[in-house]
Order: sequence, then C-alpha cells, then structure tokens
Amino acid sequence: MKLILLGPPGAGKGTQAQALVESLGVVQLSTGDMLRAAVAAGTDLGKRVKAIMEAGELVPDDIMIEMIAERIAEPDCAKGFILDGFPRTVAQATAFDRMLEEKSLKLDRVIEIQVEDLPLIERVEGRFTCASCGEGYHERFKRPKRDGICDVCGGTEFVRRKDDNGETMKARLKAYHDQTAPLLPYYRGRKVLRTVDGMASIEEVKRQIGAAL
Ligand code: ADP
Ligand code: ADP
Ligand code: ZN
Repeated sequence: MKLILLGPPGAGKGTQAQALVESLGVVQLSTGDMLRAAVAAGTDLGKRVKAIMEAGELVPDDIMIEMIAERIAEPDCAKGFILDGFPRTVAQATAFDRMLEEKSLKLDRVIEIQVEDLPLIERVEGRFTCASCGEGYHERFKRPKRDGICDVCGGTEFVRRKDDNGETMKARLKAYHDQTAPLLPYYRGRKVLRTVDGMASIEEVKRQIGAAL
C-alpha cells in the first residue's frame, strides 16, 4: 500500500498515519519528523532548514525531493509506505511521480483530511508529544489516560513544537492554501483522491479512511 495523507497543519495526518501503521503494517514517512530530527541533531541539513521551519515556510523542493528519494529506496519501504507531509508542492508531486515510475510502482490512494482554518489553530496550540516514544496528544481532544504519563511508554516528559503557535500558523496555513492545495485537483485528475471529514472525532476519521481504502 502506497498512500499519501494530505491536509493542512493540524488536520490529523500524523495521528491517522500512526493508526494506519498498525493496521496496514507499512512504515510512516513524516518529512516534518525527519526535518525536526535533523535540526535537533544539528546536521548541515538541520542548520539550513531551522529558520525556514520556525517561520512556517516550506523547505525548498530540491531538498525535500532528495530526502524522499533516499528514504523510499530503503528496504523497509518495499512493502509500502504512508507519506505524511510530502508532497507539499506540485513540483514535489511531479518529481515523486517520476520516482515511482522509475521503480514501476503505483500510488494507491491520496487521502485529503479536510478541516477549516479556525479549528486548526486550537489543534496545533493544544498539541504535545511524548519525548521518549513520540506518541501524539492534545490538551482537549486526546489527553493521556493518566495525567502526565504517556499511555504508550509510561514516559513523563512531553514536548511541544516551536512552530505550533498562532503567529507561525498564519504562515503555515498560507503555505498550505497557496502551495499545497493545488495538489487536490492534481490527484483528483489521476482518480486517486478521496476526501474525509477531519472535523469528526479521531475514531470516526479512522473509520472514514478505512472505508476510502
Ligand atoms: P504540519 O504538522 O504543520 O503538517 P509538518 O510536521 O509536516 O507540519 O512540517 C513542519 C514543517 O516542516 C513545515 O512547516 C515545513 O517548514 C517543513 N516541511 C515538512 N515537509 C515539507 C515538505 N514536503 N516540503 C517543504 N517543507 C516541508
Ligand atoms: P498533523 O500531522 O496533520 O499536523 P496531528 O495528527 O499532529 O496533525 O494532529 C494535531 C493535533 O490535533 C494533535 O494534538 C492531535 O492529538 C489532535 N487531533 C488529531 N485528529 C483530531 C480529531 N479528529 N479531532 C480532534 N483532535 C484531533
Ligand atoms: Zn511515550
């Protein structure tokens, strides 16, 4: 299964990708996570992208295309993958099409998780993540079962993303509408696009994605 999750920041791509990893047994490729790991490790790539990410702008296409080309060549992607955060521009999508073609691979589905702008601000402002295992949570919508303790690993330390604030969200939403939304007609034309209601509960979105597959 080769799948793309498409949607604005905070739509629920990461949350749903994690659920799909369990149900489909394929890997999740989150370009945002890869970039944040590079920033945290202080690599050359990390130094190049840090300020761009903090401003809520998109990292240049050539960097992203190379990153994904290298990643999907790894053996754990042979069974398939769920892309969460890539492609984000038409240039990335056309480059990705060429990569798949070269490998004689076919994209199965693109799932659009649709949410209006306003609720997305509350989504990202309430988002936090377990520092040890990366499980995602939300202050209102997905609290740990026991306060301050990760459901998955029992960790007690949580982190928030530097770009998850109202100010940066304006730039991220603008980038989505200007540069990423044109992918919707692009994939609709290829007959692989399905849209789910991202305003529904996490469980209901999961169900709708299952039905779309
Ligand atoms: P979100 O939760 O907002 O969807 P991500 O974790 O996917 O965010 O991405 C965080 C940031 O990383 C983006 O704002 C952007 O700066 C950068 N980024 C991630 N993926 C891409 C991509 N495919 N193209 C360009 N920039 C990207
Ligand atoms: P994305 O990867 O698209 O940026 P996330 O999956 O990280 O989005 O979700 C953003 C925040 O909203 C997280 O704190 C998550 O727990 C929460 N969330 C995800 N899906 C829903 C939903 N359907 N309803 C309410 N909150 C949600
Ligand atoms: Zn944890």
